Amino acid sequence: MTWHLATPEDGENAYVCGCHLWDGQTDRDGTPVIHTTQGNTTAAKALWERKNGPVPKGKVLGSLCGETLCVRPRHREPMTHRELAYRYGRTALTPRLRDRAYRLVSSGMSRRKVAELMNVDESTIRHALRELDRGGKHG
Ligand SMILES: [Zn+2]
Repeated sequence: MTWHLATPEDGENAYVCGCHLWDGQTDRDGTPVIHTTQGNTTAAKALWERKNGPVPKGKVLGSLCGETLCVRPRHREPMTHRELAYRYGRTALTPRLRDRAYRLVSSGMSRRKVAELMNVDESTIRHALRELDRGGKHG
């Protein structure tokens, strides 16, 4: 387990948060990984589970500090994929809600209004509509 306490050179966020930044191996996306007897896993998960026990079923470890290289257990929290998506403003809409959002925006409602209506972030709506555009699924 190789990490160092973040210094000012690691960026203000990591330094202020007191992140433990991974110095070991990372995967293609820059996520810290380690090899265990059970196979590869993320370093953040391995360290978190060592301290807290297994991550509850159906949940993943979301990052509270937003630092990809941070492996500090206190900076992670088990959450569902949906919570994770919501936290990062990514699309958490089901295909049905997405179609509905598209119809509402098409009919003239503002994205912010639609976001309010569906109780999600405006960026979630933006992202969902962009995905629809890409897929060319209008209608
Ligand atoms: Zn951190």
